[in-house]
Amino acid sequence: MILVSACLIGENCKYNGGNNYCAAVVDYLSDKPYISICPEVCGGLTTPRTPAEIINGAVIDKHGSDRSAAFASGAEEAALICNSLNIKLAILKEYSPSCGVNYIYDGSFSGQNISGSGITASLLRKNGVAVWSENDVVRNSSPRSLDGSR
Ligand code: SF4
Repeated sequence: MILVSACLIGENCKYNGGNNYCAAVVDYLSDKPYISICPEVCGGLTTPRTPAEIINGAVIDKHGSDRSAAFASGAEEAALICNSLNIKLAILKEYSPSCGVNYIYDGSFSGQNISGSGITASLLRKNGVAVWSENDVVRNSSPRSLDGSR
């Protein structure tokens, strides 16, 4: 079983009501069991919602409201799912303050990114789940080798 960011498979859960459909991820998952989650929605945030970025360890939305508790709650939900289903691999959306694997936005709401991980990606990694971004799937010429299966 693989956990995947819901927006990567076309669910309209992105902050602006859209999605981040990624054909490579959908193709990779086509013959595998998976479960999707949007940690921000699970944390109680609405869609659409005000965009948020990580600033000094807190998740602050563009209007200055601290959304850290909702992001933490969503991360805990994702971790619970991984634990209960023995999930060892998550494919998550790069740059997101929840799902970013290797990069997140820099907190300036200007589209600039920095090295770092989102709240959910960090917690899953801490719990021993391998976390890969959609770019890892796209880059890998033989995606089935990613999780060691087949
Ligand atoms: S929280 Fe994750 S799954 Fe939800 S919209 Fe953002 S990147 Fe996609």
